[in-house]
Amino acid sequence: MPPRTRPAKPAALDERAAAQLAELFRAFSDTSRIRIISALADGNEKNVSALAEAADVSESAVSHHMRGLRQMRLVRARKSGRQVFYRLDGDHVVALFKQGLDHVRHG
Ligand SMILES: [Zn+2]
Repeated sequence: MPPRTRPAKPAALDERAAAQLAELFRAFSDTSRIRIISALADGNEKNVSALAEAADVSESAVSHHMRGLRQMRLVRARKSGRQVFYRLDGDHVVALFKQGLDHVRHG
């Protein structure tokens, strides 16, 4: 077979994946959510009051954001008695945050 002279045209990202990715990045479009994600980026789970303290956001605002972050599958919740503990939903969520931070910091 002769070598390819031109690379194949990449397939356009399908509309559904594009919409889901846009939705994912919307999760990062709020400074309170970013600080909550940052507070969880050490990999340790935290409850609402610990997150409020670490992210400097009110507890009611944290609770509100956690609902959205769970819906977007960025955080996972674990119930223990009356407490709910949150952590980031997988290493690639941590990586998304850290890559973004690296990008804004390298100037
Ligand atoms: Zn960069």
